[in-house]
Amino acid sequence: MKYYSTNKKAPLTGLQEAVVRGLAPDKGLYMPERIKCFPDDFFRRLPNMTFLEISYAVADAFFGEDIEPEILKSIVYETLDFDMPVVSVNRSIFSLELFHGPTLAFKDVGARFMARMLGYFIQKEGLKQVNVLVATSGDTGSAVANGFLGVEGIHVYVLYPKGKVSPIQECQFTTLGRNITAIEIDGTFDDCQALVKAAFMDEELTQQFQLTSANSINVARFLPQAFYYFYAYSQLAVSGKADHLVVCVPSGNFGNITAGLFAKKMGLPVKRFIAANNKNDVFLEYLRTGKYLPRPSVQTVANAMDVGDPSNFARILDLYQNDYNAICADISGFRYLDEDILAAIGSCYESTGYLLDPHGACGYLALKEGLGENETGLFLETAHPAKFKETVEKAINVRNIAVPDKLKAFMQGRKQSVECSKSFGALKSLLLR
Ligand SMILES: *Cc1c(COP(=O)(O)O)cnc(C)c1O
Repeated sequence: MKYYSTNKKAPLTGLQEAVVRGLAPDKGLYMPERIKCFPDDFFRRLPNMTFLEISYAVADAFFGEDIEPEILKSIVYETLDFDMPVVSVNRSIFSLELFHGPTLAFKDVGARFMARMLGYFIQKEGLKQVNVLVATSGDTGSAVANGFLGVEGIHVYVLYPKGKVSPIQECQFTTLGRNITAIEIDGTFDDCQALVKAAFMDEELTQQFQLTSANSINVARFLPQAFYYFYAYSQLAVSGKADHLVVCVPSGNFGNITAGLFAKKMGLPVKRFIAANNKNDVFLEYLRTGKYLPRPSVQTVANAMDVGDPSNFARILDLYQNDYNAICADISGFRYLDEDILAAIGSCYESTGYLLDPHGACGYLALKEGLGENETGLFLETAHPAKFKETVEKAINVRNIAVPDKLKAFMQGRKQSVECSKSFGALKSLLLR
């Protein structure tokens, strides 16, 4: 399979180069040249297939031309050693729980898959060490650090803003050691992101190091997210709930929803999608006006969605060939303020007993508001509520909600991080050391 850049000014490339580079040389995002459509028969068989069988079939459609079946199968099976159950919240609304992985957020899927695929390419080609640079406001750093932990030939640098990630999140990537270095930047998330970009542009660094990104721009991180849309459909089909399906995705950089749109292009019978936003709603503005006007992000309680210029918007435009009407036919949008989010966590818990996290709460709200009479709604529960303990406890007015053991274990580790100012010179000399 060849990959092209959304900016159309870079040469076509193979899977390996697309994964190792992350971003195309013209700064566009890589897209697979073809999207394979499954035959109807595949969807009839889905309810009788396991999660791993389904995921392998989808992985094969994306990557089967480029990786031997046994290797691809082991990458898929190792990545997905946890379940993603569909849970009923009320009669017409279901939650796809994507938080049963090691760091309790959906990013585990893409990060673990990418780590294994990159590790395989490094080993096969005898590449020199690859350095993964990643800026995080919380969840990405933990998923990437844990996904890449101990992978031969890869060193990960996680840049995070000092004092601006939650203590639980910080533990998840600063206590690991081994091939993971956490760099605590005296600045904001935007500073961290700017530093990562500057590193990719720096000739001396890029000549000395093979640098890559593990943000959702990387095809090996974002495409595997299509797996669980198929699996969710199969679970709903088993209980006769898969018709007129509306899938609602709490969105930040729009990688997750784009993977769902790919699944639809592959034939998955999803009627339509909803993108749920917090106050950072440039995509909703685009749906309303046809104009895409990025702006600086503002902080909210659903912080993983605090994105002012979603990188995967370029992929959505490309997927729909810039056809605004076609985009609006498949995707609608809603946005919620912090007070709406807190109230939704409270009222959902009270009326159904289901505890939402602040991101899933946006998805739940959008389905409550946007679901039609005969439709079934599925929202992606993108993180475990205990990752946002303070917010959730405030919303339901309960102290000391249960924290999963996995999360507690991180909190017992010793923090190891390197402090660094927000000047690029300081970061560069740190990396060169
Ligand atoms: C990253 C993240 C999101 C946003 O996903 P995108 O793919 O960036 O749209 C939503 N919720 C949680 C908990 C996340 O970590």
